[in-house]
Parts: sequence; C-alpha cells; structure tokens
Amino acid sequence: MKYAIVDGHKVLAQPKLRGTCNYCGSEMISRCGRHKIWHWAHKSRADCDPWWESEGEWHRSWKNHFPEEWQEVIHADSSTGEKHIADIKNPYGLVVEFQNSNIKQAERVSREVFYKEMIWVVNGVRDDLTEAYFHMGVSREPLQKGPLAYQINWHGRGKFLENWSESQVKVYLDFGREVLWRLVFFDKKKKVGAVGPIPKKAFIEDCLNGTEFRVSYLPETDESTNEK
Ligand SMILES: [Zn+2]
Repeated sequence: MKYAIVDGHKVLAQPKLRGTCNYCGSEMISRCGRHKIWHWAHKSRADCDPWWESEGEWHRSWKNHFPEEWQEVIHADSSTGEKHIADIKNPYGLVVEFQNSNIKQAERVSREVFYKEMIWVVNGVRDDLTEAYFHMGVSREPLQKGPLAYQINWHGRGKFLENWSESQVKVYLDFGREVLWRLVFFDKKKKVGAVGPIPKKAFIEDCLNGTEFRVSYLPETDESTNEK
C-alpha cells in the first residue's frame, strides 16, 4: 500500500519505518528497495481487504493526481458492516478504482454493487497486444461528433473489451497517452463497439471538482445542424 498509519497519521513508506494498516490494523513494514516503488507491506495480510491487489507504477501515478486524503480511503456499508479500501474516494462520494490486471467478472460486479457511485480506470497497456488491437480497431472517421465517438472493431482474441463492456458503471481505458477512451458499448457477438476520447487532463479535473464527466465534441460541419 502507499500509506500506513504511523503515530495516528497516514504516512508514506520510508526506510526502516513501522506502521499499522489503516484497514485491518495489523503491523506493516516499509519496503524501500531499489527495484519496486516504495510501499508498505503487511507482516500478515490474512485479515486485510481481499479486494486489495499489489500496486506498481501505473497505480501509483494515477493516485498521485489526487489529494492524499482521497487515497486509500476505507468505504464502509453501514447496514452490513462490509468495508473495503477504495483507491480514490472524492469528497463528493465518487469512488475511482484503478484496475491494472484482469479482474474476475464476479468480483467486478461485487465492487460495483458495493461502491455504487464508482467508475473504473483500466490499464490497457499491460500487454502489447491489447493496446495494438485497440488502436488498430478504432475507426479513422468518427461515428458521431457530438459527443465524439469512434467505432471500434475488435480483432483480438482476448476478451478485454467484452469483459469491460458488461460493467454497469463508466469505464475509461488508459493506454498511457494524453487521451483516455470511455468504453460506451460493445457488441460481443459482432465484436464492434463505440469509444469516446477524453483528454486525461479533463478527466482528472472533473474528478477533482466532482463535476459531471465531460465528453468531447467536434464542431459540426453540416450547416443544417448548426445552432444559430
Ligand atoms: Zn491490512
């Protein structure tokens, strides 16, 4: 994890520091090596959040866009007592989960049911093929200009788009570029769908401000559809 509790505060890992887990209260040891990003590791994570997965650079750089108080926030369901650690929870109640690896469909559904007000940001560059198939499949001309959307034809064997298209919440695909792609829909039989680009910067601003997520528009060239 990025943070542990030391003397009552959320603290970043530093060499030779000990703390406790904000979630399960068990002892944590700082891991500050040369190869992995500095983080906190459980001595025993038996009682910790089963949804938690270890993080790398991708996760960490996303979290760093947001205030410290919003990161690794424990979200609890007051009626059931169930609780989990949200990657980001903004003060407006939105949870943002960053998903680096494949996730089982059942777990994806559980998280969506649990958090309700949430969105996914999914890493599309965990392997070369996913990214290549995506950029190969995006149409040159947009499907529509307002909001801007492109057709995506999926020629890959993997179920990357298919799986994420089942989500009941917004899904943004991150290929490590300036633009994120919102997965609007995907027809798994035809392997055709639609995706909408949004500048990553605008997406982060909307998260920070708690405003409705923007979509992109291209100016209409057809005069009949122009507004006066
Ligand atoms: Zn823990």
